[in-house]
Amino acid sequence: MLCHKCDRKAVIVLQHSGLCDAHFLAYFEEKVEKTINKFRLIDRADSLCVAASGGKDSLTVLYLTKKYLLRYQLPCTLFALSVDEGIKNYRKSTLRDLKTFCTKHEIDLHIISSKEEFGYTLDQAAPKIKKLQQKKACNICGVWRRFLLNKYAKKYGATKVITGHNLDDEAQVVLMNMFKANTTLMAHLGPQSGVEEHEQFASRVKPLYFCTEKETRLYALLKKFDVSFTECPNAQEGLRAYVRDMLNDVEARYPGTKQGIINSFLNVMPLIKEREMKKPQQLNMCLVCGEPTNNDVCNACKIKEALDGMSRGAKKVEVSPKKTSLKPKRVLIITKTKSEKKKTNNEKKKNIK
Ligand SMILES: [Zn+2]
Ligand SMILES: [Zn+2]
Repeated sequence: MLCHKCDRKAVIVLQHSGLCDAHFLAYFEEKVEKTINKFRLIDRADSLCVAASGGKDSLTVLYLTKKYLLRYQLPCTLFALSVDEGIKNYRKSTLRDLKTFCTKHEIDLHIISSKEEFGYTLDQAAPKIKKLQQKKACNICGVWRRFLLNKYAKKYGATKVITGHNLDDEAQVVLMNMFKANTTLMAHLGPQSGVEEHEQFASRVKPLYFCTEKETRLYALLKKFDVSFTECPNAQEGLRAYVRDMLNDVEARYPGTKQGIINSFLNVMPLIKEREMKKPQQLNMCLVCGEPTNNDVCNACKIKEALDGMSRGAKKVEVSPKKTSLKPKRVLIITKTKSEKKKTNNEKKKNIK
């Protein structure tokens, strides 16, 4: 097939017509720019943090954000923030790609390590949590990543966090939340995440919102970004992988399905957000770490406490939330082992004497 704009050889077929490499690059960049402008994802006064993993999506969004700032001569500061979860045979290579990229494009990079923050790499934490709470690696990874990105984006002064989420990612999450009847989480989707702005949460924006996985992959390839295109070894687990494969299957038979899901979602999104805003929202500060949470202890701390409990050999870890009080103390109750109980009892006896 030939490019419908210039008769050169097409590199991709979109909506039944082909585009050559040069016209595809222009089409892709224009789409991202329109998304940023239409949804006002970037403001002159912003300090921008790009959540970067070193994969094709994050390098693409990092590159195009910088290009956008230069094109419109915006004075925004820009830096990349990456979480090193400690995933063997995966994260090391993507971080290497990211470092090379940031050096080449003169972008500051901060890397936060899960091991340093929580005391465990994801590889160490995942099998333990699976045993204890039946949670998959992606659940822990997601909780810890969100926690670290929000905490350090704020720490480094960001007003917005830019993520590389693409149309495929969003369509998958929309469907997953629909399957689970989770309209509360759906209210937090869209090109700009969240229901209301809150100083405790850096607002998240997605310039690649209307770019498919296939388009983003091709863009990164044509731009010759140094990226390994390896998939996270945990990505084959769970509902997400199932929905992704199912969507790819339907898209192959009925092109435009993913775009259709997103268009439908955007039509109802204002209604969902409006309904969520009417609900009474309670935002607490985590009693353990001081970060924002809807409960008393944030999910990141709950996971860490469960892991610490296992390391100490505790039999059971319970979280006892106290909804109304905000006492600055730990609320995690660790059931002591027999030997620990004995020790405490002996100490009590000593005190009585
Ligand atoms: Zn062309
Ligand atoms: Zn916490």
